[in-house]
Parts: sequence; structure tokens; C-alpha cells
Amino acid sequence: MFDRASVVTPGGVNSPVRAFRAVGGTPRFMVSGTGPYLTDADGREYVDLVCSWGPMILGHSHPEVIAAVQEAVSRGTSFGTPGEGEVALAEEIVARIEPVEQVRLVSSGTEATMSAIRLARGFTGRAKVVKFAGCYHGHVDALLAAAGSGVATFGLPDTPGVTGATAGDTVVLPYNDLDAVRAAFAAHPGEIACVITEASPGNMGVVPPADGFNAGLKELCAANGALYISDEVMTGFRTSMAGWYGVDGVRPDLLTFGKVMGGGFPAAAFGGRGEVMAHLAPAGPVYQAGTLAGNPVATAAGLAQLRLLDDAAYVKIDAVSAELRSLVGDALTKEGVAHTVSAASNMFSVFFTDEPVRNYDDAKKQDVFRFTAFFHAMLEQGVYLPPSAFESWFVSTAHDARAVERIAAALPAAARAAAEATA
Ligand code: PLP
Repeated sequence: MFDRASVVTPGGVNSPVRAFRAVGGTPRFMVSGTGPYLTDADGREYVDLVCSWGPMILGHSHPEVIAAVQEAVSRGTSFGTPGEGEVALAEEIVARIEPVEQVRLVSSGTEATMSAIRLARGFTGRAKVVKFAGCYHGHVDALLAAAGSGVATFGLPDTPGVTGATAGDTVVLPYNDLDAVRAAFAAHPGEIACVITEASPGNMGVVPPADGFNAGLKELCAANGALYISDEVMTGFRTSMAGWYGVDGVRPDLLTFGKVMGGGFPAAAFGGRGEVMAHLAPAGPVYQAGTLAGNPVATAAGLAQLRLLDDAAYVKIDAVSAELRSLVGDALTKEGVAHTVSAASNMFSVFFTDEPVRNYDDAKKQDVFRFTAFFHAMLEQGVYLPPSAFESWFVSTAHDARAVERIAAALPAAARAAAEATA
């Protein structure tokens, strides 16, 4: 299948990290998913710790989400008119996240961050955007500078196709460094439209904000007339009922969402202060649109998923995450492998270094070759990890005792493989 794919699709995939290039080998083609398990085209079953890179927080094929999708599909798949589903999904988001007074639905996280930045520029009349090295906000031209995720995985310094003019208004700073942000505001007075940050980064591996970092960003933005944009595409509705806002309580001017809110369908959003959102067309002059935005099937899936995510669901996900973190840490310690298990709420990843990881430069110092050996040993034993040392691992409410046991059983050999790996 991969050979077939490679003929008709660049690199054989429709999103680069799926290709296994960072870890080597042939990507698995999955044909079905149930609960915490994926089954590949050869009939092998895997415990899934990727969860479609975050969205499948209830596990695969959750019966209530599937039923909502089937019901929506039976009424038609796209109307290009307003519909009740999109209003209900927007209401659910607004009800959960207090700083979101209004929300606009789009189809991908990339669109959400791209539109939020346009809106911030339109609202402030300024051009420059501050982002942090190792934070990934989708493949928006202006935000691909020093991005995490696939860009980190492949060590691409920049990407051809993004012109100097586009990237020239992007100021890239080291993560968790408020002094650098202060200096940027001082160097570009009255020019910075917004600071965009992952609410808690998961695209250079999991690197949570240091105490006071997000609050400091908010303060500096407010003091300098810039908007604070919290990218919650990954953390939104995952790290708590109200995403990372529910964890640190820092009020962003704009927030972006995706992944979990789409229930496995292409749905994403950006929202925030009513005064800012009012600048968006047709209420205001900043243009933004989408043929499939607010799609009735996607909104039905997202709404069904969000409605199942109550306090009890997060307690369950947090507990499974804590258990897995401790199992992974113990297995690596036992084999004498230098590592740091880094967590932000239930998102976590393993850095193969025992030095503290506070930013992208720190993350890059890990022994990636040990992750590669660890990854393949887990895969061989039927555990599907993200195929990169720079990605978060994701769990779901469906990861039960049996799934955890299967992971636990695979860990000793994987830890040994990591210990024995050579650069
Ligand atoms: N923002 C963050 C924090 C993300 O993690 C991602 C994707 O991984 C995006 C934006 C882009 O979302 P999408 O892949 O839906 O375009």
C-alpha cells in the first residue's frame, strides 16, 4: 500500500509525520479503530497512543459519536447555509471557555491560527507577529519559522515557498523566556499585532509553560497594545473541560481550537473577546470564510464528543496518563536510560535526556536515536506511539486496564532497546 501511495502522493502520505521518516521503516496503514485499538491492513492490532494526534479523546468508534454522525449524514452532508448544529457547537464552546464570547468555525487548526492572526493584524493595524521556537501552529506561511511538530521532526530550518516578505513580520523567540518578549516589544514599539503561543506546547514534545509565563505574556501584550493568542488546537478540551485556560486561568484575547472539538472530523475554530471578533466579516471588515465551515456532520461529531467530556471523563484520562507516565519512567530507569517524562495535564512525552527541557533547544539535545529504538520495539509489540521524539503522546477514556497492561508488557523490551541503541 505504501508503494502504491508513494507513486501518487509525495512521500506516500498526506501529512509528513505519518511517513515514519524520522524513525525509519514503513508506516502502518490503519483500516479500523475501536476504543484504544487500531487494526492495520495486515490485521495486526495496536494499542493507540496517538489518538489521531489528539482528536480521539473518547477512543475510536465511540458508539454515541458514531450514532450522531449517522443521524447527521442521514439528513444530508453540506448545505452551505447556516444550520443549528454549528450554533449548538459554538454555544458549547462559549459555555465552556469564559474568555470566548464569540467563535467562528473553520475546518482545520491551520485555518484557525491563520485567521486569528489576520484578525489580530486587522484589529490592531499592526503587522508583526511574535511566536516561539518549537511551537507549531499549523502550516500557516508566517508561522512556519522555527516551528515544532513535523518541522522539528525533520530538522527543517525553514521551508522553501515561504517568502522573506511573508516571514519577515514574524519574530521568533525562545520559549519560556519573558525577557526575550520584553526585548521584542522594546525593539518593535507599536509594531507587534499579537503574540501567539501554544497554550502548553506539545509540538516539541511536551514542554509546559514555566510558572507565570503565560500570565507574563498576557501582561506584556496588554501593556503594549498587542493581542495575546493562545493556540489551544491541541490542548483545547483535552487538558480539562476548558482546555489549558481551565488549567492556568490566564485570559487570552483570542483562542484557537481544533482536534478534540471535531470528534474526528475536520472542524476547528477561533474565538475570543467580542470586541475583537466583531471585526470579522460580515460583522466587520476582516475577511474570512469557508465552504465547509460549520459542516453539519463535523459539528454533530464534535458536539457529541464534547457532550460526553464531563468531569468524570477528564479524571479518567488524567489517571491513565499518570499510570502510563509512571510505567514508562520505571521501565527506562530500570534499564539506566537517561530520560525525562514531561507532562502537561494528561498530555505527555518522553525526552531521552535527564537535563531539564524548557524550550526547543533543550528538546533537541535529547538522544533521538534512543527514541527510535524504543519506538520500533513498542511497535513490534503492538503499541503505536507517535513516530517522532518531538510529539505528545495521547490517551483516551477508552484506555482501560487491558490496554494499559499491554503497554506495560511491551515496555521492558523497549526500554532495553533504548538502552542498547547507538547513535
Ligand atoms: N496548532 C497546534 C497547537 C497544533 O498542534 C496543530 C496541529 O497539530 C495545529 C495548530 C494545526 O492544526 P491542523 O493540523 O488541524 O491544521
